[in-house]
Amino acid sequence: MESCAASILFCKRGKAELKKVVTPNDVYEYSLKHKDGRWGVLIQPLVVGLCPTDEAGGNRDFPPGSTRSFADSKNPAVAGHEFIGKVVRVNKNAQKKLSERNIAVGDIVAVDINIGCGECFPCRRGDPPLYCKGGATFLGVGTSPGAFWVKKQTGREHLPGAYTTGFVVAPARNVYKIPLKNVKNVNQLAVFSQTDAVACAKTSCDAMGITTFKQMRGFGDPAMLVIGSGRVGAWHVAVAKELLPNTQIFLADIDKENLTTVGNLFDIPEERRYLVSANSKNPYARKSLEAHFGKNILFDFVVDAAGHHTLSGRVIMQILRESTAKGGVFCTTSHTGVNRIDAGDPELILGMKRFLNGLSPQNNFEYAVSFLAKNIKKYEPFVKEIKGGLNETLAHIVETGGGEYKKQMEGTTFYSVVNDIDFLK
Ligand SMILES: [Zn+2]
Ligand SMILES: [Zn+2]
Repeated sequence: MESCAASILFCKRGKAELKKVVTPNDVYEYSLKHKDGRWGVLIQPLVVGLCPTDEAGGNRDFPPGSTRSFADSKNPAVAGHEFIGKVVRVNKNAQKKLSERNIAVGDIVAVDINIGCGECFPCRRGDPPLYCKGGATFLGVGTSPGAFWVKKQTGREHLPGAYTTGFVVAPARNVYKIPLKNVKNVNQLAVFSQTDAVACAKTSCDAMGITTFKQMRGFGDPAMLVIGSGRVGAWHVAVAKELLPNTQIFLADIDKENLTTVGNLFDIPEERRYLVSANSKNPYARKSLEAHFGKNILFDFVVDAAGHHTLSGRVIMQILRESTAKGGVFCTTSHTGVNRIDAGDPELILGMKRFLNGLSPQNNFEYAVSFLAKNIKKYEPFVKEIKGGLNETLAHIVETGGGEYKKQMEGTTFYSVVNDIDFLK
């Protein structure tokens, strides 16, 4: 395998560049010598999805306390964590594990970039990588503080991501096969770059109790308010509707375009769409919500998909107190957490109301792949290509989180093609 490849990487905090840097071939070799070859799958990325977490990784905002270095040329901070690619090389150990799941060299796969040590109690029994006692590492994003097992297993402190003409390296367990039966073009293939986002939405739905709502509560049409109709919000609506089809969705956003796109995609009636005015002082106060959605409405589920630092703890507490039904849940998807949530508030205690966060794919990759495979046609128009592949412009889009670009191009969900996709020609 080549030892160098053009890649988009962070050379310093917040600044990404396109450069030729070392591939993780050394990790593959190191793993064979030092730890039973756990890091035994090389994957050539084909399609990489645009996600602001790449920016967070480039600012060391995520994972919190990230130990990622930007100056080490032997360990470049290559970006890109939502991707699908082709399995190009496997070692013996990985081959055995992959063949048990019907995966072989040449297959197209999605990769769960959350990786645990594989050795501790939670890892051994199959818990999500995020539950690892040693701390997780995130391909293309960074390593949690204290996750010393990463260096021991790989020879590096953090692992590179998918914006590269080379390849990424991962353990067999983290690789999931993409069924190509209904994939006719690159745009349809790119739908699978959303596997991680869909898996995260499933985690939120499980955590909020949508998955088991009907069983537990005896009725099947709870009210769900989704704040933010961008990519993350849209996948939450999609998965909630799949799990509990009669869920009544209410949508709020300051962006008219997104509100219309997602509203139309899921047949959300006009009266359940709330275009939030940028000047509004308190758009989620009881009064404002009633003015748009009608009197008496209470929400069983509220999802904050508005992005980091948009809703404050004070606003969330207000929604929980005033507009959340008894037994209801507020779920944030913000990686950076929220301050000043008061679990001791009487309304929460007596009303059995909860606050939680849901943004990690847990063990939902398999669910997400089959969900997308079923719905390729529906979501194909929803994903758009950033033309030009790997170049400086893309490096800039990645380092800024893509917010400006998305606005300019009037879309929410974008991908880049980083290597030749020959099997669809
Ligand atoms: Zn992401
Ligand atoms: Zn572990």
